[in-house]
Amino acid sequence: MTKQYFAKGLFSNKQVVITGAGRGIGAAVARAMHNDGAVVTAHLGREQSSHQWTFPADSDTHVNTVCADLATLEGVEQTADYINSQCPHVDVLIHNAGTMLGRVPLDSMTAEHYADVTNLNSRSVVLLTTKLLPLLKLSNAASIINVSSISAATGGSAGSSMYSAAKGFISTYTRSLATELAPHGIRANAISPGTIDTDFHQRYSSAEKLAATAASTPLKRLGTAEDCVPACLFLASAELSGFITGQIIGVNGGTSYV
Ligand code: NAP
Repeated sequence: MTKQYFAKGLFSNKQVVITGAGRGIGAAVARAMHNDGAVVTAHLGREQSSHQWTFPADSDTHVNTVCADLATLEGVEQTADYINSQCPHVDVLIHNAGTMLGRVPLDSMTAEHYADVTNLNSRSVVLLTTKLLPLLKLSNAASIINVSSISAATGGSAGSSMYSAAKGFISTYTRSLATELAPHGIRANAISPGTIDTDFHQRYSSAEKLAATAASTPLKRLGTAEDCVPACLFLASAELSGFITGQIIGVNGGTSYV
């Protein structure tokens, strides 16, 4: 069931950009921002047909959507161009698009898998951030939120080494952004989800593995996409988290890694 979050207009007319918003965590966060009155520019995913929800067309606020493969340089360029054409400035930038691209054991690792995983999960974040910096600097108090992973801290489970390392890059890059962008009044933080029950794990984890993860989680369940929303709203709002930057918030049911 979709929860309704009431941020009491904290995001009213804020320019919010989010990637990978067609489903899963990105869709839940984009919907919450939209419901609170943000002007959302959503990169949905690679193709228009793959997203699982539509934005209401009859509300006072707007949603602009774009689709592109962020693993490619062209896709990043296309997305940045679209955002530049739609947004007078960017108040909140959420880098959420990402995935594991399969489980590959260490002894089967290839240069292609390394490139595919890092191009999507880390290179796209770097390039999109760089291309959107002028718009972020035009905001009074911009907030960047990166979506890292618990695997950045644990190294991940078998076959996820490149994905986990790419997310480790994201956690470190978040801290670098925080320091370097602070003079511009731009904050940068990350959320680090544990195991969240989205399409991601339908693709990459067995039912047995998910059950074992739930059993070993202190709160005894997997997370939901909606569980990730409050941390994003908190980090996005200068009113709520204006003195917080360079931090990584675990959304993981009590596991101590972030
Ligand atoms: P999801 O339901 O699979 O959604 C992933 C989103 O990323 C989709 O919109 C997808 O679009 C987009 N995406 C994937 N590959 C792309 C590409 N090459 N170009 C452009 N967009 C692409 O997964 P999720 O669980 O919501 O994951 C969201 C973020 O959380 C990811 O960064 C993931 O790594 C991170 N995360 C997830 C978990 C978890 O347990 N689920 C844990 C830690 C971190 P398409 O429709 O085109 O595939």
